Amino acid sequence: MQKGYGTGASPGEAVGKLHWYKREEKEIPRYKPAAPKAEWERFLSAQQEVIAQLGELADRARKEAGEEAALLFKTHQFMAEDTDLEDAVRTAILETPVNAETAVQEAADEFAEMFAQMEDPYFQARAADVKDVAGRLLAVLGGRKKGQVDLSEPVVLAAEDLSPSETMQLDRGKLLGFVTTGGSASGHTAILARTMEIPAIIGIGDFLKPEMEGHLVLIRGENGEVVVDPDPEMVRAVEEKAEAQRRYKEELESLKGLPSVTQDGRSIKIYCNIASPRDVPAVLRNDAEGIGLFRSEFLYLGRDDLPDEETQFEAYKTVLTDMGEKNVIIRTMDIGADKKVEYLGLPKEENPALGVRALRICLNRPELFRTQLRALYRASAFGHLKIMFPMVTSVWEVLEAKKLCDEVKQELKEAGIPFDGNVQVGVMIETPAAVLISDLLAKEVDFFSCGTNDLTQYTLACDRQNKDLGRFFDPHHPAVLRALKLVCENAHRYGREVGVCGELAADMTMTEEFLNMGMDELSVAPGAVLPLRNKVREIS
Ligand code: PEP
Ligand code: MG
Repeated sequence: MQKGYGTGASPGEAVGKLHWYKREEKEIPRYKPAAPKAEWERFLSAQQEVIAQLGELADRARKEAGEEAALLFKTHQFMAEDTDLEDAVRTAILETPVNAETAVQEAADEFAEMFAQMEDPYFQARAADVKDVAGRLLAVLGGRKKGQVDLSEPVVLAAEDLSPSETMQLDRGKLLGFVTTGGSASGHTAILARTMEIPAIIGIGDFLKPEMEGHLVLIRGENGEVVVDPDPEMVRAVEEKAEAQRRYKEELESLKGLPSVTQDGRSIKIYCNIASPRDVPAVLRNDAEGIGLFRSEFLYLGRDDLPDEETQFEAYKTVLTDMGEKNVIIRTMDIGADKKVEYLGLPKEENPALGVRALRICLNRPELFRTQLRALYRASAFGHLKIMFPMVTSVWEVLEAKKLCDEVKQELKEAGIPFDGNVQVGVMIETPAAVLISDLLAKEVDFFSCGTNDLTQYTLACDRQNKDLGRFFDPHHPAVLRALKLVCENAHRYGREVGVCGELAADMTMTEEFLNMGMDELSVAPGAVLPLRNKVREIS
């Protein structure tokens, strides 16, 4: 038995025969083409073929691994048609002149080197993407199929490196996991492995060697451990765990399409939290019944200026259209506290969590709020929208926000722009003040959603960002649970629906208590939907 450690790139354990993957590397021929123009045409048709192949891979990735993986192949498509790369190839073929293979290889080497020299690890990792795209172009130019890794039996695959397209084209039924000697955790291969839920370890170095082909190996994606020729007990333990995991996954799959209802008939809606339209495929794949929290502020982050009405409208419309008949609760922007944007020019604060945040910014700067509300109401024509205000402490804030909603609706009406006249408006319950006046708030809004992350922070006077507060930050604290119970009672007293969209919603030790309180909805990350439905259905 030999043990080595790399970097865990994707969690999970696997045990199986080691198969060393050696890429078929062909010598690149270098010659002067007899007719450079025809050679350029040959490149252009290879480029078209590659773009088509990457389109197919993107579709496949979307179905099997979600939007993030599909985006990777879309990025590869952009790289394949990148004008800088194309110009370099054209100059080499028409002016030097050299054959298309040499032109592609040299241009790609230059671009990959440029990325590799960058300081940011994210851009460094893009060098591998350029090489992947170039490899595909070279394969097409050489009349080969790129990235097909044929596996005849279930194996743990070892390779010096795997390109994202090779990873995507691996036969999932036969791939138990993979280990690479090189690679980076922020590289796309690692990202793909995580989305495809394949245990993976990267950077194992020369611990694994091609001579080990056929040996039994055990890998642990969590800690990057690789064991060659493991003890039989170790193998049995991993196999049993993997089998239990497989059965559990199958069981979860079988819950798709079933209601989230307890054995004695109490039902609860299971919704999802999202941060971008790109998360919607995961919501649908996991059969969530709606979106309980779209954190719209993510549209505002990572930019140099405010997203305009059109940008926001498109994002909301995409989510609403993709969700079809299902409810979508979009929270108006919750900037401030830990989510800062330079361009709003907000002053530095002593206590940002208690400062100019969320609805407070919107009410202080109504022009900014109007833009978001216009985008939201315009998008409401495309699905089932509900609007939710964050960080509420007083009734007057809600009345002022609702007045702005009415003004925006009136504007749209006058301009003949379609919108849904029955969009429900709700508030997040995340401050002790909101809890204590939840009866008064219930009279003014259509629904509540409890943000237990902030509710815990503000109820326990405990900064949610401060790692040192560990055991003091306790969402199970009786003060928080009593608050939730009171909110439920007040919501139901006025016939309003109430849910939880903070992290506590996915805590399965709480599910029964939430049902007993009478929560109508729990909103969780897409991956938590089916485990939670399973939990609900077990309760009697
Ligand atoms: C919460 O506070 O629980 C919540 C869902 O909102 P956020 O985590 O985005 O502040
Ligand atoms: Mg919050």
